[in-house]
Amino acid sequence: MIKTISYLGLGTMGSGMASNLLKAGYKLTVWNRNAEKCEPFGRKGARVADTPADAICDAELVMYSLSNDQAVEEVVFGAKGILSGINEGQIAIDMSTVLPATSLREQEAYAKRRVDFLDAPVFGSKQESADAKLWIMAAGNKAIFEKVKPVLEQLGQTVHYFGKNGNAAAMKLVGNLIVALEMEALAEGLVLAQKAGLDLKTVMEVVKVADFRSPLLVSNGQNILKRDFSTSFALKLMLKDAGLIERSEGARRELTDAPSSHPPSRSYGAAGRDSLQPPVICRASVSAACEGYLERGSPDHLGGRNKKSHPCAMAIRL
Ligand code: NAP
Repeated sequence: MIKTISYLGLGTMGSGMASNLLKAGYKLTVWNRNAEKCEPFGRKGARVADTPADAICDAELVMYSLSNDQAVEEVVFGAKGILSGINEGQIAIDMSTVLPATSLREQEAYAKRRVDFLDAPVFGSKQESADAKLWIMAAGNKAIFEKVKPVLEQLGQTVHYFGKNGNAAAMKLVGNLIVALEMEALAEGLVLAQKAGLDLKTVMEVVKVADFRSPLLVSNGQNILKRDFSTSFALKLMLKDAGLIERSEGARRELTDAPSSHPPSRSYGAAGRDSLQPPVICRASVSAACEGYLERGSPDHLGGRNKKSHPCAMAIRL
């Protein structure tokens, strides 16, 4: 039974997971690039490490949730990275959203050190991470999966096994393609509702119960109406995932073949540019629902200097 765990990357997702590991009684070591984020964990009894290599030296299980492929590159493969210190018998789990090819590259590198590796990205956001209600996918050696499953079950409400390494990472992109399009549909739907003069509260009452309902539409729609745009899933991460979807093999074929579809990065990328054609504004609006920072701006900002960072505000007011 696993007792000692290292968690690297204490961002929105990692901090919730690391907290739940502490609550579950595991002996925990933490590391984060910005060391301040380790302090609350140190106060609760975790060991705080100076480097990734230091963090993982005494752990049976090494887990990490990092922004993107580049962060994985630095933390895993870099100087004083995980690979520089990890040894035979230890297990590593990457919970970040990265390209399946990156997961495979990690698996190969770990295998050279006789270390088992799973890719195990998650669905759910800040709240689900804090509440140990994530939906977790895992891929890699089945016996290793069975060994770490009790740990993953402390973090999520479901844990699905996906077979060979890279498959869980691929599933994560499948899910995020759906998320991206759902959010886009929500924003465009609200724009249409607004233009039609409908009461948006009543619109959301229908979205909550109709056959196209989903928890994602309901929670984000209600936040848009409340003008609550505190960050749960940063726009830059959605844009990153849109880029990963386009770069992943299966997705690329799908997107090219489907005449009515368009790469989600086109929509999400628009949020980072200055394009103000109406269709782009509508599409960019979903990004704000993801990152949601409307509240930093007042209506005065809508046509002003903050227009790039408040696409949802623009959409809602069209
Ligand atoms: P986040 O809050 O931005 O945290 C990112 C973490 O990665 C931080 O610990 C950050 O360290 C670290 N990091 C970034 N670049 C680094 C580098 N070059 N070297 C070392 N550390 C680096 O992101 P998050 O929302 O927790 O997301 C983490 C992962 O989960 C991402 O892959 C994301 O796509 C995925 N995910 C997110 C959500 C969500 O709703 N937020 C949901 C599902 C999956 P610092 O603190 O020092 O910046």
